[in-house]
Amino acid sequence: MFTFPTIKKVSVVIPVFNEQESLPALIQRTVATCETLGRAYEIVLVDDGSNDNSARLMVQSSEMPDSHVIAVLLNRNYGQHAAIMAGFSHASGDVIITLDADLQNPPEEIPRLVAKADEGYDVVGTVRQNRQDSLFRKISSRLINRFIQRTTGKVMGDYGCMLRAYRRHIVDAMLTCHERSTFIPILANIFARKATEIPVEHAERQHGDSKYSMIGLISLMYDLVTCLTTTPLRLLSVIGSAIALSGFLLTFVLVALRLVLGPEWAAEGVFMLFAFLFSFIGAQFVGMGILCEYIGRIYNDVRARPRYFVQRVVKGETRKDETRQESNVK
Ligand code: UDP
Ligand code: MG
Repeated sequence: MFTFPTIKKVSVVIPVFNEQESLPALIQRTVATCETLGRAYEIVLVDDGSNDNSARLMVQSSEMPDSHVIAVLLNRNYGQHAAIMAGFSHASGDVIITLDADLQNPPEEIPRLVAKADEGYDVVGTVRQNRQDSLFRKISSRLINRFIQRTTGKVMGDYGCMLRAYRRHIVDAMLTCHERSTFIPILANIFARKATEIPVEHAERQHGDSKYSMIGLISLMYDLVTCLTTTPLRLLSVIGSAIALSGFLLTFVLVALRLVLGPEWAAEGVFMLFAFLFSFIGAQFVGMGILCEYIGRIYNDVRARPRYFVQRVVKGETRKDETRQESNVK
């Protein structure tokens, strides 16, 4: 349909939280891989408030002669996705790759992602082959991925894998979103016209443990759901309506039975009490649902995502090679 600007520069954005053991190999392998790209490149390492030697190692690496490393140091721990956003705002590449610092995502996969983006994809996701994580993580991840596929209708298989490539305009669009908690792969998909996925290798964590505790994982899941949809708020109305309706039906049936079978059948009105109770509980839920409908709208307005995203404007009389990429998200 139209061609993207050619990829002249590649940025690699890596969030780092207490990864001092992995950093030397990470930097060495990422640099070695990027050198094979035959394009300009930069490696943006974001220190997410580590309290080990990570920040010092990153700064040392960025101060080496001819270094391609940029060290972005955050004052405290903000979380993986916030750190990546901070990295985005310091990345200047035409395509931006994200990956984890613990070497679970092999940096050697970067050229394949760049090649795929070159084919004209806005977003290139990845699916981890032989995922090297605990069974609990794999099962919960599968459930969440299925939930996202149902909600969005988009068939992407692995939203948890952060080894991904985004074209410049997608990152620019994401940077205009001011929500504090976000989930980057979901946010990117909102702005993507063409997205794809490729299979990639996945390695076991060599050093240290996952930086996500159980509570951290639950909070990440909430970030994902709230980033994706306000539908759970709507569910209250649906549940409420169902309860209220069953209450009304029960009342109707009880009145009918009482008329047919006589007053002694009705256990002195106990069942009727239940029926009324159901109706009132249901009505309360519906009331809460209406309240939530407003809260959902307030939430959408407060996070002020762009109302729409114009990827490109093409004028009829303009020559093909003069068409420009334009976005009105700012
Ligand atoms: N990370 C981060 N801030 C955090 C937690 C994690 O920057 O608060 C980084 C971490 O250093 C790693 C990536 O995010 O580069 C993924 O973290 P981890 O490997 O612990 O997650 P898992 O693989 O268990 O999902
Ligand atoms: Mg990991």
